[in-house]
Amino acid sequence: MTRKIEKARVAVVTGGTRGIGASISETLHKFGYKVAATYMGNDKAAEEFKAKTGIEAVFKFDVADYEACAENIAKIEKQLGPVDVLVNNAGITRDCFLHKMTPKQWNEVLRTNLDSVFNMTQLVISGMRDRGFGRVVSISSINGLSGAMGQTNYAAAKAGIIGFSKSLALEVAAKGVTVNVIAPGYIDTDMVRAVDPSILEKIVAKIPVKKLGNAEGIARLVAFLADEHNGFTTGATFNVNGGQYLT
Ligand code: NDP
Repeated sequence: MTRKIEKARVAVVTGGTRGIGASISETLHKFGYKVAATYMGNDKAAEEFKAKTGIEAVFKFDVADYEACAENIAKIEKQLGPVDVLVNNAGITRDCFLHKMTPKQWNEVLRTNLDSVFNMTQLVISGMRDRGFGRVVSISSINGLSGAMGQTNYAAAKAGIIGFSKSLALEVAAKGVTVNVIAPGYIDTDMVRAVDPSILEKIVAKIPVKKLGNAEGIARLVAFLADEHNGFTTGATFNVNGGQYLT
């Protein structure tokens, strides 16, 4: 179902220079999208990403900052054209049991993982409505569905994305715009490699397929959801978790 597109549409991928986001950017680029990848601060990874993929449209800004998002969406639209596909992928963790969690840890995670989805989506949704076409895909997490110890902040943000997306899907359903969520399980990226190896081993042992997922699997699902012929899939949450949590 994933194939080259007919018209070169513009896709923005937040956190699109590393990990899952880099794979999404690369896959959409291969399928013929004009891709803008955004990132926060890792210039080295962004340069390597540019050299590897040939994607030149790379933008550095904080997705938690509405004004910065507005400025950069304007730059992207000037450079590439109106945004047809938005992939809200940027995310962070600041794990801590609630009784020890600081307001800073709570706020950073909520702002980066959830406020960002409001910021970016709010800025492109009017254009999508007016043009009668749009695809919004946001990356949630298995832990937004199942809950996870030490992740009250992260799980709240990731569950929030699902409620947000269902509501927006209804608002724009008649306007040719679809809004969907992907909830990955444990995918082999820097974020997961940062977990203590002994804990990671225990996590993998509990995954029915007995391995971590790969970013390309997520990227191909994004391409399927972004497809211009796929206008009937909306308000949905897709679990990609090796059978670890079944809903
Ligand atoms: P990585 O840590 O590998 O990459 C995160 C990306 O987000 C980076 O490009 C980073 O920029 C960017 N980013 C972080 N904060 C901001 C910010 N404030 N503004 C702009 N960009 C920002 O993450 P993954 O690839 O592992 O995860 C991608 C998404 O998938 C996240 O939303 C994550 O929660 C979700 N997810 C991941 C899972 C996994 O197993 N890996 C499982 C379930 C969900 P920079 O490079 O500059 O740091």
